[in-house]
Amino acid sequence: MKKDFFRVSKVIVITCLVFIFGCSKDTSLTLYQEAKQLKTEGDTATQNGELQQALDKYLEAIEKSTKASQKSDWMLPKILQKDCKKSIEALKFLAEKKDLFEYNGKFLSKEEYEEALVNEGGKLIAKKKEEERLEEEKRKLEERKREEAEQRRVAEEKRKEEEEKERLRQVELRKMQQEYDAYLPEAQKVLDVLERIGAYLEVGINYSDFGSRIQDLNYQWKKFDEFAMEKGKTGLISYRMLKRATDGYILSFSSWKTAADAASKEFAIMEKLHAENIRQTMWSYAGIFSAKASLTLKSRENVLPDTCPLCKGGKKVECLFCAVAGTGKCPLCLGDGKSISGGTCSSCKGSGKCKECDGTGEVECLLCDGKGVWP
Ligand SMILES: [Zn+2]
Ligand SMILES: [Zn+2]
Ligand SMILES: [Zn+2]
Repeated sequence: MKKDFFRVSKVIVITCLVFIFGCSKDTSLTLYQEAKQLKTEGDTATQNGELQQALDKYLEAIEKSTKASQKSDWMLPKILQKDCKKSIEALKFLAEKKDLFEYNGKFLSKEEYEEALVNEGGKLIAKKKEEERLEEEKRKLEERKREEAEQRRVAEEKRKEEEEKERLRQVELRKMQQEYDAYLPEAQKVLDVLERIGAYLEVGINYSDFGSRIQDLNYQWKKFDEFAMEKGKTGLISYRMLKRATDGYILSFSSWKTAADAASKEFAIMEKLHAENIRQTMWSYAGIFSAKASLTLKSRENVLPDTCPLCKGGKKVECLFCAVAGTGKCPLCLGDGKSISGGTCSSCKGSGKCKECDGTGEVECLLCDGKGVWP
């Protein structure tokens, strides 16, 4: 009975051992055994002075024993590893005696060793340079990104600024349009009167009828002028044209009056002729100004500058107040500076020159203010 028990136990133990060794055959144990064999071969090579071969064996042994110890906690591969490392240190000692140097698992001559170090140094320098290059590239890229972001920010800011400007411009434009909408009918009232006068002049009108037309014009003008002053519209082209046409008709009426009253005065005929001349010219001027005012109002002040139609771009026009337009001579004494009775001429005080143009016969163009271009 006892004998049977031992036999059964023996079978179990053997089975277990076979199982254990079976499991680890290709792994830890096998690797360790191979490593051990390599160590032995390394030792033999060392004894034979084959240092390189020995080093190869030891390194391979270390590799295998490392693998073996990775697969289990078994101590023996670790011990073997230490032994191999010690043997390598011993090998290095032997190698130094033979003037050999261990480098990356190889024994090299002094020259080879130094070359290898130089190569390695070169590689390190190249590697460092490459790293620096990449670093620089990265830095530049980041800088470019920052710059681009900054540019985008500036562009966006500018766009917003422009938008705001445009918005304000639109608001201002609308305000101006509304103001002009209020101005237009007031200006139109004056223009209507001016155009009516123009129409009368074409068919013919007598002195007293013309006078009442002028009264009407005066009334409309005063109302409009007050309005334009209050609204700050006196700088508009149409305002200036309406004012000149109005002034022209008023002056023509006073000339008419002068001519009518001339009979009782000295120089009666001269004065009458002169006054008639002024009246006619003023009518024609007022007609031109009135037409320009109409054009300007129709286009809401958007008239393109062009050669002035009155002076034809010459900037000056003949003086109408000279004895004969453009001569520069005093209209009363015709230039001799004396009155009919032999005294000094009351108009030129003896100079014989036209007071308005100081004897030059020319004055600044009334339409373009001497610019040669209208408006
Ligand atoms: Zn002109
Ligand atoms: Zn003159
Ligand atoms: Zn005179």
